Amino acid sequence: MYNPESTRAEEFICESEILKTLGYAEKNKNNTELIDRILEKARLRKGLDHREASVLLLCEDKEKNKEILELACQIKKDFYGSRIVMFAPLYLSNYCVNSCVYCPYHIKNRHITRKKLTTDEIRREVIALQDMGHKRLAIEAGEDPVNNPIEYILEAIDTIYSIRHKNGSIRRVNVNIAATTVENYRKLADAGIGTYILFQETYHKKSYEKLHPTGPKHDYAYHTEAMDRAMQGGIDDVGLGVLFGLELYKYEFAALLMHAEHLEAVYGVGPHTISVPRIKKADDIDPSVFDNGIDDDVFEKIIACIRIAVPYTGMIVSTRESAECRERILKAGISQISGGSKTSVGGYCEPEPEGENSEQFDVSDKRTLDEVVNSLMKLGYIPSFCTACYREGRTGDRFMELCKKQQIQNCCHPNALMTLNEYLCDYASEETKFIGQELIKKELGNIPNEKARLLTEENLRKISAGERDFRF
Ligand code: SAM
Repeated sequence: MYNPESTRAEEFICESEILKTLGYAEKNKNNTELIDRILEKARLRKGLDHREASVLLLCEDKEKNKEILELACQIKKDFYGSRIVMFAPLYLSNYCVNSCVYCPYHIKNRHITRKKLTTDEIRREVIALQDMGHKRLAIEAGEDPVNNPIEYILEAIDTIYSIRHKNGSIRRVNVNIAATTVENYRKLADAGIGTYILFQETYHKKSYEKLHPTGPKHDYAYHTEAMDRAMQGGIDDVGLGVLFGLELYKYEFAALLMHAEHLEAVYGVGPHTISVPRIKKADDIDPSVFDNGIDDDVFEKIIACIRIAVPYTGMIVSTRESAECRERILKAGISQISGGSKTSVGGYCEPEPEGENSEQFDVSDKRTLDEVVNSLMKLGYIPSFCTACYREGRTGDRFMELCKKQQIQNCCHPNALMTLNEYLCDYASEETKFIGQELIKKELGNIPNEKARLLTEENLRKISAGERDFRF
């Protein structure tokens, strides 16, 4: 039976509720009266439930679809202003005992080059990332209790936080590793991680079991209940996601929102972020063999409907998507993107030698971080390297409370400008620096409170003079 307050996967991601939702959305996809009522509720910016959002997702009316997209853009602006948070993935190890059929790290892949970074190699990768200007990383690893035990991950986190190279520092380490125990989540929380990210891949139990035929990841309930264990282990911020292309997108969409509702109902705080990866070509993986691929129009609509349903949840898109596609979906609701990413193990220091390949998937947006930052600013966005909320303890429900009251932008806007200035002074090309400093001058004028504006100006001057403030 459907019960969002239960901590059992089969009850909070209840198949019959998903099917009823799809039936309801299908029946009402042209019901303009209902769609108008849902849009009116959405304009209150307090979100929608999975049924209401599913009706919007399936809506076929051209004019209403335009309204949906415009509303998503507006909500994005209201909650996030023009800030886009920047990050990079760091692949620690591609050893894996699972058999995910869409992932080249699967255990049967004998020709992919297996690599695991040593402490020294981690140090070199982190210095390369700091030299690009990154402050926020997402660490990635396959699941392998022998090669990548929790102790290895914890040591890696420690190493990453300890490195100070020139003006560089990694100030927030998000973690994307396999589902684990409450005890291990507690260790990750104690290590000071930012968000714990785990993609559900698919919420469809039968497909999930087929797509993960062997290995610990085969256990659907254990995987689906991972965020509950993470929260019980003291991790405040968790990041959800599905791998679009594996199953019917409408099914995944409803279930993803049910997962968010479950976390809110039980722990008083929904997901900190939602990621929207699509399957990509990789070593021995051909995305065209999966039947449920979605085109860019559907992708944009999914993002817009998630933005409307959970206005205060960050949304992440990676370099799996092309520069053009990323520009398009930024408008629809994305708030966080990666830049200059490498998906190979050790790829930031040096390119892999001929004949070696440890990549997880082909990157579509191959621009450098400087090029991404430059083009974001030309589009009017403020690339932000800020990690202040996390550093000041504004995580979990404390972050959500501020965000729901649309208060985050009062501190986020100045912090974004200050961390952008750090980036411009320390790492940017001449052209990017020029564009950025003009943008900062203009954006200073958008800080309504005079005291805050003067303080920001003062801090910007200090940064330009070489002072760095690790609270950001
Ligand atoms: N081992 C961890 C786990 O099982 O969740 C971390 C996973 S992996 C490093 C990060 C994510 O990459 C996976 O959760 C999956 O969604 C995604 N991924 C795997 N193969 C992919 C592919 N061919 N194209 C795009 N994304 C892929």
